[in-house]
Amino acid sequence: MDLDDFKIINDTHGHKSGDELLKQVTQRLNGLFREYDVLARFGGDEFVIMLPHTCRDQLVQIAEKILKHLQDPFTVDGLEHIVGASIGISFYPNDGEDQETLLQNADIAMYKAKEAGRNCFRFFSADMNEELKRQQYLEQKLRLAINNNELSILYQPQYDLNSAKLIGVEALLRWHIQGKHAVSPAEFIPIAEKSHLIIDIGNWVLNEACKQSVLWKKQGADIHIDINVSGHQLNTQNIFETISNSINKYGLTYTDIGIELTENMLIQTNENSLKNMEQLVNNGTSISVDDFGTGYSSLKYLKQFPVTIVKIDQSFVQDSPTDENDRAIIKAINAMSHSLGLKVIVEGVETLAQIEIVKELGSDYAQGYFYAKPLAPEDVIKLVLHKNTTAL
Ligand code: C2E
Ligand code: CA
Ligand code: CA
Repeated sequence: MDLDDFKIINDTHGHKSGDELLKQVTQRLNGLFREYDVLARFGGDEFVIMLPHTCRDQLVQIAEKILKHLQDPFTVDGLEHIVGASIGISFYPNDGEDQETLLQNADIAMYKAKEAGRNCFRFFSADMNEELKRQQYLEQKLRLAINNNELSILYQPQYDLNSAKLIGVEALLRWHIQGKHAVSPAEFIPIAEKSHLIIDIGNWVLNEACKQSVLWKKQGADIHIDINVSGHQLNTQNIFETISNSINKYGLTYTDIGIELTENMLIQTNENSLKNMEQLVNNGTSISVDDFGTGYSSLKYLKQFPVTIVKIDQSFVQDSPTDENDRAIIKAINAMSHSLGLKVIVEGVETLAQIEIVKELGSDYAQGYFYAKPLAPEDVIKLVLHKNTTAL
């Protein structure tokens, strides 16, 4: 069992408060166990509970009881703290015949509970182990991906819904492990984020995109490129400086590049990253809020942060021809964004019916398989030079 958000209390109120809180937690839990059960503090805010002769159903009840007992706030030095816990459960002998394996597997299950949103419990299963092994394998491989030339970028066109003109492309990263298979970004980006490899990879993407922009310019086309930037990149490096350096190195301008950030990242920004974003926007770089509608969807954040484009998540577009609610949401996002002076792009449009609807609802731009899948650079230039507008 690992306490949720204990570190915050330790960091903001000091270790003495943290220690006091740990004592209170154990006092509350102590009453739940039988004489021959063991409740032990394993280190930091991690506890190990050993329950002999207990079946799965009983364990469910105990885990639920533990979480329930921790629900009420704890009072330390007159301040109230809410503390949850994430619990991972492993069984002897099925999940391990020795102490080390049992603990390790309980730990894996505990991380699954954290991933599932904290304040819950998970039983260990063999799949979890397989998944973890695959993640470790991919992380190892990913460390070598740049040097092994395994990364590449595809570019997905974005169109103006009214003029049907190409307004730019989004850079989407691809990874093909040498002599093996391609791995989806949905799988490797989270691994890159967790392992902080995303910093090097993100910088690689930025540089490649700049190089590509120069090449396209030489071929006679000015194509705006949107780059996906992850939270780590935004918060651990000066994104303004990073982009400025690349732009200067390749002789580009700030309007040649745009960045895409998710709402959840905006919420975690600090003063510095906010300032960096402002500098970018003031210089003409576009900042899009990606996957809008799936996170906080907060009007306040749109107003507060220096963003220029709202990107409506594809989940609202998919059923828009039949689902009235989805249409209402798209319409509301359009109205709200426009009144704040922001443009709206809709992503994941696959059919003509969807295009017609989002256009009618007032969105400005669109991107999706209906127009084109993410394309290799040479296909983008062909599209631009031979046909700058879509069939519409
Ligand atoms: P995203 O930024 O939301 O990108 C849109 C995803 O939707 C892309 O998936 C794209 O291929 C897919 N897509 C585009 N049009 C359609 C459509 O009409 N229908 C459907 N069903 N899907 C469509 P992809 O390329 O697999 O990328 C997945 C995610 O990985 C991206 O989501 C983004 O969050 C992340 N990602 C990709 N490249 C980078 C990168 O260079 N850096 C970072 N930090 N993240 C990246
Ligand atoms: Ca994106
Ligand atoms: Ca998106």
